[in-house]
Amino acid sequence: MKKTWIDKSMCIGCEACVSIDEDDILFMDEDGLAEAKENDKELINCQMVCPTGAVKIGEDK
Ligand code: SF4
Repeated sequence: MKKTWIDKSMCIGCEACVSIDEDDILFMDEDGLAEAKENDKELINCQMVCPTGAVKIGEDK
């Protein structure tokens, strides 16, 4: 199943993924960590730009 989600335990809040997300699916939450709205997208570019591998594509864990 297509879906982009964030593993917050790996996120360092650099905002790189949000800054290039043209679909406006990713945003920064109140704790300064990335979060994804409900979606059926594969945000490959966002995944590639993340320095920690926190942007996940596919099934939620
Ligand atoms: S690019 Fe990765 S580490 Fe940076 S805010 Fe996004 S998910 Fe977090």
